[in-house]
Amino acid sequence: MLGFDPQKTRLRRFMNSRASANCRYQPTCYEHAANCYTHALLIGPSFVGMALLHWLSANNWEKITAWVYGMGLCALFLVSTVFHIITWKKSHMRSVEHCFHMCDRVVIYFFIAASYTPWLNLRELGPLTAHMRWFIWLMAVAGTIYVFNYHEKYKVVELAFYLTMGFFPALVVTSMNNTDGLYELACGGLIYCLGVVFFKSDGVIPFAHAIWHVFVVLAAAVHYYAIWKYLYRSPRAETIRDA
Ligand SMILES: [Zn+2]
Repeated sequence: MLGFDPQKTRLRRFMNSRASANCRYQPTCYEHAANCYTHALLIGPSFVGMALLHWLSANNWEKITAWVYGMGLCALFLVSTVFHIITWKKSHMRSVEHCFHMCDRVVIYFFIAASYTPWLNLRELGPLTAHMRWFIWLMAVAGTIYVFNYHEKYKVVELAFYLTMGFFPALVVTSMNNTDGLYELACGGLIYCLGVVFFKSDGVIPFAHAIWHVFVVLAAAVHYYAIWKYLYRSPRAETIRDA
């Protein structure tokens, strides 16, 4: 398997041994710091990005969409940062850490739903769009219920849930007549998928979780760019704003 043998490399001090089944990996202090900073640095830009879409909105429907998407973006980086700070500095507060770990997982479901919202709200799509518009939030709620009941118990199932939720709405989004932005959407999705390799490599690759964070940042940036460019900056002829 691809990785670094901690016994043989100079990178040993940057990484601890892999966690056993159903146990959480314990990052080194270097990894803790990287986990915090890689998402903390995105909190400010997320708020700016939300404000920019709000400012570019031509009507209330676009404004609401900008807020839903923007809040998903801000919540992801905010909750992730708080969770990683608590894991690093306040790990003795077990129940608080456990609570934020669940929040860190739950926010991903809502972030996926929020990321699809601009496309489902502002693009002329196929007949299934109206259903998918609320179904993604139902999936997010289902994911939340799962986290509260089976948190950390079946990690593979959890990953399967994320991937299902990440790709299922794409069935509808890819049916849109106007294909502008589809390339960026696919690129972002691919970056998320590549990042999962690192998400699953704690204790195998130093800073694996922080690298996963960087992949999340890149994918979210590509998706934001597509939403800004195709749905807000020059959407005049293609959105359903006047519907
Ligand atoms: Zn994280």
